[in-house]
Amino acid sequence: MFYKSTRNSGLKVSSAQAIAQGISEDGGLFVPEEIPSITMEEIKSVGDMSYAEGAAFIFSKLLTDFTDAELKYCTESAYTDKKFATADITEISHLFDGTYVLELWHGPTCAFKDMALQILPYLLTTSLKKLDVHKKVVILVATSGDTGKAALEGFADVEGTAIMVFYPQDGVSDMQKMQMTTQDGGNVTVCALKGNFDDCQNGVKAIFTDDDIKKKLEEGGMMFSSANSINWGRLAPQIIYYISAYSRLMKDGEIKEGEKINIVVPTGNFGNILAAYYAKRMGLPVNMLICASNANNVLTDFINTGIYDRNREFITTISPSMDILISSNLERLLYILGGENDELIKEWFGELAKSGRYEVTENVKKQLSENFRAGCCDDERTKATIKAVYDKYSYTLDTHTAVAVCVYQDYREQTGDMTKTVIASTASPYKFSGSVLEAIEGQPSGDGEFVKVERLHKASGYDVPRSLAELESKERRFTDSIERDSMQSYVLSALGLE
Ligand SMILES: *Cc1c(COP(=O)(O)O)cnc(C)c1O
Repeated sequence: MFYKSTRNSGLKVSSAQAIAQGISEDGGLFVPEEIPSITMEEIKSVGDMSYAEGAAFIFSKLLTDFTDAELKYCTESAYTDKKFATADITEISHLFDGTYVLELWHGPTCAFKDMALQILPYLLTTSLKKLDVHKKVVILVATSGDTGKAALEGFADVEGTAIMVFYPQDGVSDMQKMQMTTQDGGNVTVCALKGNFDDCQNGVKAIFTDDDIKKKLEEGGMMFSSANSINWGRLAPQIIYYISAYSRLMKDGEIKEGEKINIVVPTGNFGNILAAYYAKRMGLPVNMLICASNANNVLTDFINTGIYDRNREFITTISPSMDILISSNLERLLYILGGENDELIKEWFGELAKSGRYEVTENVKKQLSENFRAGCCDDERTKATIKAVYDKYSYTLDTHTAVAVCVYQDYREQTGDMTKTVIASTASPYKFSGSVLEAIEGQPSGDGEFVKVERLHKASGYDVPRSLAELESKERRFTDSIERDSMQSYVLSALGLE
């Protein structure tokens, strides 16, 4: 099976090529030329496998140019209890009648990004070997917090790679900053930027597309790649946990064979929910996909009206990983729903670049409403949801998952739909201890980060993840903070190319 670009349907590349490149030269995203299918028998069989075995099996349908031995190597290296705090890799908690929380944050950085970024380095280095490329791969990351740390943890000391992460100086949580600036590894660089997340992202994009820099890299035997969710190597691993969760619920007798479920996803860049859509298209019995946004509700409006309009204020919220106005992965969904018409995609995304707005066709609107529901929730309701769930069900949500629970409760009230439902839980509450504690205690606390962690431990009863607890005594390795216009020279000198 080959992959094509959302902006050039005629293109044909292997999955290894798609993963190595990250993004197509025409600016489009790589998508499989046809969506493979999985039978109910196969879904059932995944329930009897370890997470790594199930992943290798599902990958074999998506990455058809990888051998079984290569997939076994990648999945067993990534999904082990040496890296994840639970042997099952993910956990499922029953929240209330027919509603389950799929905890995707038991990896080394305590956010769901680990599910993909633990395996991406293996997929990427295996892809390069298959393609007989012997350059050193430089991973450049702009992060609003979670991606940077998860990518650092995945790529630290991976042979043949270097990773550089830029984060907005004042735009990440204290815990996130500590996680990144104490990162171990001989091939890692972390740098603060005097600007916001958009400045980081624009700077990284400018470096990616600068011919001078590309030439210098080539002369130095290096190439750039991306660890962002535009890379198919990040999206494919996310399809797996939805299938795996279904098979486990079925095995545990919580759902019947073939029973349809709803899936709720706290959404930012639209990667996680798109993976759930792919799982549905592969054959997973899914009724509705519910897209939950915070006050940055551009996706809520889009799914409800078919009009995408980013011309609105950017709001900084207590669920910062969802503070985003341009959701890159929507391009993949619209390519599929629009009948794989690359001209339509170029038209819409051309309008988005020019005026910040586009409207999809009636046919696409119809398909959107058949598959998706959307809602949003501001910080006040997010906190109220954390508090209510804590009081009622003795379960402590992080701020992002709380947005999903809030939007789901709205949905259930509005529709009366009692279909069994899986809510994707994307971060450990300890990553956002301040906000979670404020929600539970009813007032903000001026205490230091680790005092708050200790109080949250007492309140929730959850073990403090070791990777976060040990940060308190860890030495800060990275203190650089640079102006926006010095990013390029910073990158070149860090790579020894200047
Ligand atoms: C990245 C992230 C999200 C958003 O996921 P997308 O795939 O970008 O939609 C939600 N919650 C947390 C905690 C995240 O780190």
